[in-house]
Amino acid sequence: MTENYMEVTAPIFNIQSYSIHDGPGIRVTVFIKGCPLRCLWCANPESNLARPQLMTYIAKCTGCGRCLGSCPEKAISIGSKDGKVAALTDRTLCTECGACISSCPQEARELAGKEMTVRQVLEKVERDRLFIETSGGGMTLSGGECLMHPEFSEAMLHAAHEAGFHTAVESCSFAPNDVVERVFSLADLCLLDIKHMDSITHKKLTGVPNELILDNIRYTYHILKKQVIVRVPTIPGYNDSEANITATARFVAQKLGNDVPVHLLPYHRLGESKNESLGKDMDLSIEVPSDEHMQWLLEIVKNFGLDGQIGG
Ligand code: SF4
Ligand code: SF4
Repeated sequence: MTENYMEVTAPIFNIQSYSIHDGPGIRVTVFIKGCPLRCLWCANPESNLARPQLMTYIAKCTGCGRCLGSCPEKAISIGSKDGKVAALTDRTLCTECGACISSCPQEARELAGKEMTVRQVLEKVERDRLFIETSGGGMTLSGGECLMHPEFSEAMLHAAHEAGFHTAVESCSFAPNDVVERVFSLADLCLLDIKHMDSITHKKLTGVPNELILDNIRYTYHILKKQVIVRVPTIPGYNDSEANITATARFVAQKLGNDVPVHLLPYHRLGESKNESLGKDMDLSIEVPSDEHMQWLLEIVKNFGLDGQIGG
């Protein structure tokens, strides 16, 4: 680690206080931009690219036109969207420079992501120290994907530990083994996703196969001896079949251990409106899974003798 590790930066798109789904207690969750996967159902599409991205909110826009003159690329025009007069952005012209943002009185435009140092992020975490300490919480690195920024993640986890905070990572585990070791070895808890057990299907759903991911999860548990929780984003029609949840539970029970909990995370639709704000159409329409269906999947997990729960 570099001597001035407090000054290492990464593009951060959110620092969420009072988070209760990203590890034990009340936590501060730090969302880093950039992810090697492209899950069809991504809940944080603004995290995909490791650079700032323009987000526009049609619902807030009054169509006043003040932003038009601020754009050096002439990418903004007034038009109609879903029957509403609003500023429309031509994404083929937009360079995501951010010049239009301050011109909007309605806060209908923003840039997702800005470079922050470890020191700046830690200052935000410190603000919640009282809640963190009284609840047994800590700091969680999420994204995006912390493994895409190993220097920052390593420095951030180290700095948080130095300050006395419990640390966790939420990760897709898709990175070379040495990067996984470098980052995960500094975390107290690793919340690791398994999206699908069949590698060909995994590639169709996320853009990458799953062998490296499963290897890294095994490595984290057996070699790095980390506390691991396996998380399955449960997406109706994509990975919520009896066969896939059975295969996932079998992998955890047989290749990891029965002390590794499995959390089934029901799909939610938040990512759909974010896609619209990024100027993308959501490619698929997914229903939120019913409580009964989630309970049935949970029973499959428990039948393997595993500690399971619905939600993080
Ligand atoms: S981010 Fe820059 S290029 Fe894009 S619409 Fe705004 S001002 Fe124009
Ligand atoms: S984005 Fe903001 S400045 Fe531009 S037309 Fe809408 S409300 Fe006006």
